[in-house]
Amino acid sequence: MIYLDNAASTQISGDVLDSMLPYLREQFGNPSSIHRYGRLAQKAISKARKQVAELINADPSEILFTSGGTESNNTSLYGIVKKNPGSRIITSLIEHDAILEPCKNLEKEGFDVVYLPVNNLGMVDPPSLEKALNENTSLVSIMFGNNEVGTIEPISELAKICKEKQIPFHTDAVQAIGKISIDVKELGLDLLSMSSHKINGPKGIGALYVKKGISIDPIIFGGGQEKGLRSGTENVANIVGFGKACELARKNLVTNISKMKELRDYLSKKILKEIPCVTLNGHPEKRLPNNVHLTFLGVNGEDLLIKLDENGIAASTGSACSVQIQKASHVLQAMGFSHEQITGSLRLTVGISNTMEEMDETVKILKHVVEELRAVSPFKEKYSF
Ligand SMILES: *Cc1c(COP(=O)(O)O)cnc(C)c1O
Repeated sequence: MIYLDNAASTQISGDVLDSMLPYLREQFGNPSSIHRYGRLAQKAISKARKQVAELINADPSEILFTSGGTESNNTSLYGIVKKNPGSRIITSLIEHDAILEPCKNLEKEGFDVVYLPVNNLGMVDPPSLEKALNENTSLVSIMFGNNEVGTIEPISELAKICKEKQIPFHTDAVQAIGKISIDVKELGLDLLSMSSHKINGPKGIGALYVKKGISIDPIIFGGGQEKGLRSGTENVANIVGFGKACELARKNLVTNISKMKELRDYLSKKILKEIPCVTLNGHPEKRLPNNVHLTFLGVNGEDLLIKLDENGIAASTGSACSVQIQKASHVLQAMGFSHEQITGSLRLTVGISNTMEEMDETVKILKHVVEELRAVSPFKEKYSF
């Protein structure tokens, strides 16, 4: 199999797994315990908190461990806005469901949620944020890098606009960490969501960066772990693994980025050259180093996925696939794509262990599969493939 769905999840790194095993075997203590077992677990968490903080240039005290990107997003929304019932929340039309769904729920609870549009490259226009801000705004949340089309948003400009008005700014950076150099201080961010399994760490663990001085309310109550902000016995092994994944991501950032870019550019150029009637979606330059998002006119993306899978390639259409039911992409809709363009979309996301040979093989198979599907396409007459 050739795995090209690294935006959905990545393979756990061997070093990460090795770092976790002692905490699943002999070091099984509860970090809240006074005895040696507890102290060792607590120490391991402290080390991981530092490793996570270092990846984004935060202070360890600003890192809150959660169960992943989804919980980090929910915590930053509910944790900030609950204090101001009925206030305005500004986000964008292209966010992950882990922002859009809690926002929908907050609308039901009487909050005024504004969804900023994007241009046809998937980018939010900073002046549109400026216009949407009002006295009553309690939070702005705009993602760092889009999980479908890979477009990188103008985060520094957006954060600056919020800072001037003293409105907290959150970014869902799940797709961006380990793929872009991120410095929360330099960017002026207040809250940032991270997830471990998108950077070769284990699933079910992530973190929320909360800038010193920003006060959030918990959404989970209990034993008071994580300074009372996230109760529940810490998932020590996962936290340790996430810390290790962050350390590796930081140490190898430059080489990983250039490797992914090389694979990505080679793959997309070759596809565009060898297969007719294909377009590359998203921003041509301001895009995640691992993302290739394409539209094959006259082809159904789901048929394409099944055929690719049969031929040993794991890919995605990119749109949220909740319990295996494919929805029409809200991201591509927001970018103004036609129904036909949306249907023909495919996302290929490379990872640090992919090879150039795999890229060649992928193009070969893709070319063949697309030809096969186009031969029976109802749009055969419309285009000269
Ligand atoms: C994967 C993803 C999430 C969800 O993270 P989990 O750790 O799987 O809950 C949130 N936002 C974006 C942009 C993602 O790609």
